[in-house]
Amino acid sequence: MSLQDYKGVFVFAQQVDNKISGVSFELIGKAKDLAADLGTEVTAVLLGYNVKDLADKLAEFGADKVIVVDDKALEVYTTEPYTVAMNAVIEQYKPDVVLYGATAIGRDLAPRVSARVHTGLTADCTKLEVDAETKNLHMTRPAFGGNIMATIKCPDHRPQMATVRPGVMQKISPVAGAKAVVEECSVTFEKNNKYVEVIDVIKKVSDKINIQDAKILVSGGRGLGCGENFKMLRDLADALGGEVASSRACVDAGWVEKDIQVGQTGQTVRPNLYIACGISGAIQHLAGMEESDLIIAINKDETAPIFDVADFGIVGDVTKIVPILTEKIKTE
Ligand code: FAD
Repeated sequence: MSLQDYKGVFVFAQQVDNKISGVSFELIGKAKDLAADLGTEVTAVLLGYNVKDLADKLAEFGADKVIVVDDKALEVYTTEPYTVAMNAVIEQYKPDVVLYGATAIGRDLAPRVSARVHTGLTADCTKLEVDAETKNLHMTRPAFGGNIMATIKCPDHRPQMATVRPGVMQKISPVAGAKAVVEECSVTFEKNNKYVEVIDVIKKVSDKINIQDAKILVSGGRGLGCGENFKMLRDLADALGGEVASSRACVDAGWVEKDIQVGQTGQTVRPNLYIACGISGAIQHLAGMEESDLIIAINKDETAPIFDVADFGIVGDVTKIVPILTEKIKTE
């Protein structure tokens, strides 16, 4: 079988408790672009138990086709049955490209599948493009501690596989009532081949903020000078109806919790407005926020790289400017 016989852009449609994870919709959005360049269609692979009804949701977000493997063995995620199912789908349908969210599940599943089907895997991609000439996928990811962006190709094997972090790609606006071709794929699971058994699932109760959902982020960096100064960012965020985020420097200094860190080793965000306060704009920070719709930077150094990605910049002392802004917004 030649490489040209592999067709279609497939997305692993991750679901937990019969709810599809947001990253799967984002990947379908990106898969549509890739499929247009490759002259093919987008297929979502839905694995689980009693999940068939979710196919319509995937169609609304752009899937042309949904392949469903519905089996009790897939009720709760464990590595082996999901690997068997994904492997079976790939063997049967021969996709050209397979994308996974770089979630805990995707990061566990994708390497196992790539080993079974003897292909490569590019993890944590930030960019995916089709080479116009060769039609190979160019998969870009940070390398060498984030100091360079490496573009990786998989020219000799199929499928070309990548994981992509949540928040990096953009989902399309859903089309209500859209329908996809739904096909069931039958897979045989070895009953005695249970390496892992889930005995109980204990849900984490968390009151933590999810910065990925915030439309407005006021983000602080080392330029704030101390953890106490995050209070002024909270006031500005409250006045704007937003949330507070931070650079890694502030997390490392113990000023704020890691769950609000933006960047390569933090979260990827794409808010409508990102206000960077006392953040220099290191490449590892930009990797997590440069796709924001509008970026405003406040920095006392007019040569700070953050100004290269900012739509508006204020040169000055952040500890003086932020309270003035907050007061102004409150009185408007
Ligand atoms: P600095 O780079 O120290 O910048 C502080 C800025 O504040 C300066 O530009 C300065 O001019 C300005 N300033 C100082 N005082 C004032 C003032 N009073 N008013 C206004 N401006 C002022 N970083 C992340 O953020 N997220 C990541 O996920 C991440 N992952 C990384 C992964 C790896 C493998 C590595 C090697 C690094 C990573 N980093 C990450 C760290 C990154 O390289 C930078 O060190 C970090 O982003 C710097 O944070 P900062 O901009 O807050 O601090």
